[in-house]
Amino acid sequence: MRLTVLGGCGAWPTADQACSGYLVEYDGFRLLVDPGYASLPRLLRHGTVDEVDAVLLSHGHPDHCADLNPLLRARGLSDAPPPPLPVFAPHGAADAVLALDRRNMLADAYALHEFSPGDGMDIGPFRTDTWLLPHFVPNAGIRLATPRSVLAYTGDTGPSPDIEQLAAGADLFLSEATYVERVPDADEPYLLTARLAGRYARQAGVARLLLTHLWPGTDPEAALGAAAFAGPTDVAAPDLVVDL
Ligand SMILES: [Zn+2]
Repeated sequence: MRLTVLGGCGAWPTADQACSGYLVEYDGFRLLVDPGYASLPRLLRHGTVDEVDAVLLSHGHPDHCADLNPLLRARGLSDAPPPPLPVFAPHGAADAVLALDRRNMLADAYALHEFSPGDGMDIGPFRTDTWLLPHFVPNAGIRLATPRSVLAYTGDTGPSPDIEQLAAGADLFLSEATYVERVPDADEPYLLTARLAGRYARQAGVARLLLTHLWPGTDPEAALGAAAFAGPTDVAAPDLVVDL
């Protein structure tokens, strides 16, 4: 399994970084997880829009799904449209982004497969298990497994005992770390810190930790320090590639 980070900026993109966007490849299958703001231009550095085999959304916030719209436009409005793109999303999570264009304009560009977080499914070669994790909107924690390796991704979440199960023994734990040490009180049930991400990584016994979704302007070194994870630890950055 190969993970290519397209972007890992929380909330809004910056001059140097797109919002969430993760290309996960195995056995020739290309799964795009969370095409957030500005992730499509980054994706195009790594292949064409036709080469995406499926999309998986953790939740419906636009910093995790907005660039589904230009991706579908680029496929559906081309001279030789590829087959409909399978889009896997929690119930209702894709509604807003799919409503940006007039009804039916992109209807042939995608095939929507909605699920309830907690469901399991197969997406190409990936055994995909999900957990409903606490966020402002329903969010699916995602565990992608092949016969060789496991990638666990939180989406956006507050603290939950389910995170340890989601990440148990994973080769890579991709964890949101919106804040470094402390989440503002009102948001505390719905977002994580780098410190908590490191704690979950230790509890789950993961091999490697990748922090993502840092609030724009956050010092990556501060996040790495707060995580205090003994194994390899990075902050998601454009074009970072991790082979598992
Ligand atoms: Zn969110």
